[in-house]
Amino acid sequence: MIVLNFDQINGLSDSAREHLLGPAAEKWSGGACTLPNGMKLVVLNPTHGRARTNATLMEEICHVFLGHQPNRLSIVTKDERGKVMARDYRKSDEEEAYGVGAAGLLPYAALKRLLVSGKTSRQIAARFRVSRELVEYRMKVTRLWPEYKSSAR
Ligand SMILES: [Zn+2]
Repeated sequence: MIVLNFDQINGLSDSAREHLLGPAAEKWSGGACTLPNGMKLVVLNPTHGRARTNATLMEEICHVFLGHQPNRLSIVTKDERGKVMARDYRKSDEEEAYGVGAAGLLPYAALKRLLVSGKTSRQIAARFRVSRELVEYRMKVTRLWPEYKSSAR
């Protein structure tokens, strides 16, 4: 897998570039494609912060690792908050790649140890360079959430 800088993309018009980094910057996190030799190429949105980029890159790695087949055309869908987004894989594959990627970024043992020591989700997020949403998602899927919620922090 090769990760390209946005600046390394050739053949993108100035208007497309301005659109992707300007008005549309919030609407995409990364894109991937397969080269004729089977190698994956990933481009990450350079306007997003470190935490979001880490999650995007892990998700793309997991799609490849888990052998997910991309849709021929990306599906435009709405997320839970009603935000329109493009999806390149089946919904179940997206969930699986995000879940495995999040576990790679924030393993259970480390999460549990920090939670027991009284750290907040914000502190844990800063330590692991991920978003607070990712930390809380991990707490929920690992069933540490009730323990976290019941302790005053
Ligand atoms: Zn994905």
